[in-house]
This record gives sequence, structure tokens and C-alpha cells, in this order.
Amino acid sequence: MREARTDYRLRRRALLREVTEGARSLDDVRDAHPDLVRAGVHIGSDAPEPCPLCTRKALKHVSYVFEGKGPRTPSGRALPAEALTRHAERHGDLTVYTVEVCTACHWHHLLESYRLLASGSAVG
Ligand SMILES: [Zn+2]
Repeated sequence: MREARTDYRLRRRALLREVTEGARSLDDVRDAHPDLVRAGVHIGSDAPEPCPLCTRKALKHVSYVFEGKGPRTPSGRALPAEALTRHAERHGDLTVYTVEVCTACHWHHLLESYRLLASGSAVG
């Protein structure tokens, strides 16, 4: 089960507004790390909407998992969405970060984070 969800869509909207208003350059926000773009291509799931910047249907959601309560190391491990529940059952509670990345223009942004509890473990 999921808990402690944090939504980053307001921050995303504010950033996109800065781009539209010219306060931020496109190069500034189209700087996805090559590893993230690769993860988007190979294990990302299709986002329901097109890329907010280039409007192509190349937007992917990638899940990064950290074991326990959150990142202790700078980078988590990218996993396909369908593998998350099994990973939690095998390794215990996880912290998941969902990131969107456009495999065409390399726009990227954090969408949400949440705790994924291994089934049977206590909430809290
Ligand atoms: Zn794009």
C-alpha cells in the first residue's frame, strides 16, 4: 500500500510558467541526465499526456526506489512500475520517486514521492 504521498505538480506548473514567461531558458529545463533518458526509453511507462514543452508523445514516467525511509545515496534504482510491489515484498518498505522525462526533448521533473509498504507491515 502507498502512504505519505507528496505531490510536486504545483512546483512543476510554476517552473513551466517561468519558461513560458521567459524567466527560464528551455536549455535550463531540458537537461535530463542521460541515465534518466535511457531509463525512460527502456523501462518508463507512457505518460497519459504529451510533453508540456515539445508536445510530442514521448513523455515517460520512471520510478526510482530507495529502500527504507528515503535517499541515503544520491541516486536510487530505476524500476519498471509493474515491479515495484514485488520489490517491496522482497526487500521491505520503499520510498518511491516518480519522475517524468521526455525522451524527445529531455524535459524532466519530479512528479511525486510516496512510501510503498510491503504487504502485511504496519502503517506508520
Ligand atoms: Zn518534450
